[in-house]
Amino acid sequence: MFIDLGDAMANLEVNSVSRSYETRSEPLCILKDCSLNLSLGENVAIVGPSGSGKSTFLQIIGTLDAPSSGTVLLDGVAPFELKEKELALFRNEHIGFVFQDHHLLPQLSVLENVLLPVVAHGKATDEWVERGNELIERVGLGNRTHHRPGELSGGERQRAAVARALMRKPKLILADEPTGSLDQANARHVGELLVGLPVDQPTMLITVTHSRELAGKFQRQLQIEEGVLVSSVPTEH
Ligand code: ADP
Ligand code: MG
Repeated sequence: MFIDLGDAMANLEVNSVSRSYETRSEPLCILKDCSLNLSLGENVAIVGPSGSGKSTFLQIIGTLDAPSSGTVLLDGVAPFELKEKELALFRNEHIGFVFQDHHLLPQLSVLENVLLPVVAHGKATDEWVERGNELIERVGLGNRTHHRPGELSGGERQRAAVARALMRKPKLILADEPTGSLDQANARHVGELLVGLPVDQPTMLITVTHSRELAGKFQRQLQIEEGVLVSSVPTEH
């Protein structure tokens, strides 16, 4: 099934991606011919039961896991054809990740964590530090800049993770159950932050979520059903 989000100039082209795992008996097929086109400025939510392959799909789009077959093209580049080092650079520059658990480093401050994507490949210049501070303000953590993750609430940690994902102005932001560990009020806050992000330039956002409420805020909702990516009609809530 091909889901075209309506723009001939898609910046992300996922074409007929399948993923299976070898097992002792027959291969376990998780994703079957999943295709998705996305253009800058578009956002999409992916819902589906636990174990349906949502994280697997996101990991492939995020170039962290290679598909068994099919192709991914981001901004005209086929990431899986890059050498390992080039792929790491490409991913760092173009893709921002937000995971269910913030993945902040406990020994670093909020600012240092937010700067990680730039210090991984060189020194944080004054301009980067300025941008880090600005993003921290934008996610509402201006008074937590020098706190460590352990001194923050769950919602604040996730907001720091969102700021970190935005650091390098990525074209693509991938969020895997970003509100899954939060209480309802914080989940709503982080969800609204993600969807309403005042980004510096048009960005593509793909969010995997269990929450129909969060999914309903996205332009499109897709579902993975028995390994196949299909359109999902949101239910009333
Ligand atoms: P979701 O994010 O929708 O909960 P996942 O993408 O994490 O689902 O997992 C989809 C399926 O793939 C699950 O049934 C899981 O057990 C299986 N799976 C994930 N990783 C592996 C692996 N390394 N080897 C075999 N099966 C795996
Ligand atoms: Mg998952």
